[in-house]
Amino acid sequence: MVGIVASWRCKCGIRVKVVAEVDPSQPPARQVAACPNCGESRNVQADKIISVTEDISEASPAFDSKHDSESNVSRCNEKERLLAARNKAFEIYKRLSTELAEAAGRIAHAEFEFVANRARNAREAFLDTAEQFNEHTAKHGC
Ligand SMILES: [Zn+2]
Ligand SMILES: [Zn+2]
Repeated sequence: MVGIVASWRCKCGIRVKVVAEVDPSQPPARQVAACPNCGESRNVQADKIISVTEDISEASPAFDSKHDSESNVSRCNEKERLLAARNKAFEIYKRLSTELAEAAGRIAHAEFEFVANRARNAREAFLDTAEQFNEHTAKHGC
């Protein structure tokens, strides 16, 4: 399982933050997350929802900008880089999985194999980046 965070601005005005888990060996599933404030639900691509909370980091813009510049100092660049790489690899994998599902039975076998290969490679790349990220945070404690 790989942890993901999704967030959006709810129509009631708060920012909803969802922490969820995705099983990279399975095609993306859909879960419903409800706003803790008004109960408005949203679909999230995940296998398991861990928590749904109000994201208060944006609540006060004045406090927020100060808080941000402070946390930037202690933020680990390597962690950020690995996280960005992992998220990007996951996006590619997700896109190719969708492409593959849509292509099934619709295109020639050879072409399907080509898409299937790319999806497999994208999955490998995603698992690699996820592992690098987990290893780094475990070792570095960041
Ligand atoms: Zn709401
Ligand atoms: Zn680190």
